[in-house]
Amino acid sequence: MSLRIDILTLFPEMFGSFLGTSIPKRAAEKGLVAYHLTSYRDFATDAHKSVDDKPFGGGPGMVMMCQTVFDAVAHAEKQDPRPTRRILLSPQGQRLEQSLVAELATTERLLLISGRYEGFDERIIDGLKPLEVSIGDYVLSGGELAAMVLIDAVVRLIPGVLGAADGPADESFADGLLEYPQYTQPREFAGMQVPDVLLSGNHKKIAEWRLEQRKLRTQQRRPDLWQAWVAKQSQESNQ
Ligand code: SAM
Repeated sequence: MSLRIDILTLFPEMFGSFLGTSIPKRAAEKGLVAYHLTSYRDFATDAHKSVDDKPFGGGPGMVMMCQTVFDAVAHAEKQDPRPTRRILLSPQGQRLEQSLVAELATTERLLLISGRYEGFDERIIDGLKPLEVSIGDYVLSGGELAAMVLIDAVVRLIPGVLGAADGPADESFADGLLEYPQYTQPREFAGMQVPDVLLSGNHKKIAEWRLEQRKLRTQQRRPDLWQAWVAKQSQESNQ
């Protein structure tokens, strides 16, 4: 069964080249993912095709109105009987991390609700009860780029999307550690050498070196991840 991803947006045209390139494209070609774009604008009922209005109480900018978003969600959801996981992209949401990405990669339907302007009328969140997801502590102009980040991270974890050779098992965050440093041809570049162990052909030694490098990197670059990994190791060894 393939994963159906519905994307709700005011700018469907932003997704064309992203979904038609590289891994997201390959996933669709293999029939493992299907993308469906819906524009809120198609559900606007007035002559101006309005989807936003001024905030009650005053303040800058415009707010996305309830009706068009509710109608777009209902339209997308009735296209397939499987229940959707509703995700609303928001800088105020839960931070997107690999553990959430891995969980989303096991679902059958994702519905991504991207905002624009100053964001959504709060009743959209109260009524639709989506999981609010943020891609980081900065404010984008719209949820489209955040939706693309989430799609890219999710589809590459679906079994069969990546070939065995470029599988995600060793990648950063897969088991709590960052990935080891990588080298390719030539063996020497501008006086800089590839570490001898990688040229040794000794697979056991290479695996040991890589694990050491992963630990070292994580310790130096991400003390938060390192502490969590150490705690997990000691918990596992006490079991
Ligand atoms: N006024 C909102 C606030 O201060 O929380 C920000 C609205 S932002 C300009 C417009 C839209 O961009 C949001 O509704 C959301 O869909 C998207 N967005 C902005 N930053 C984001 C982030 N860090 N993660 C996910 N989506 C984001």
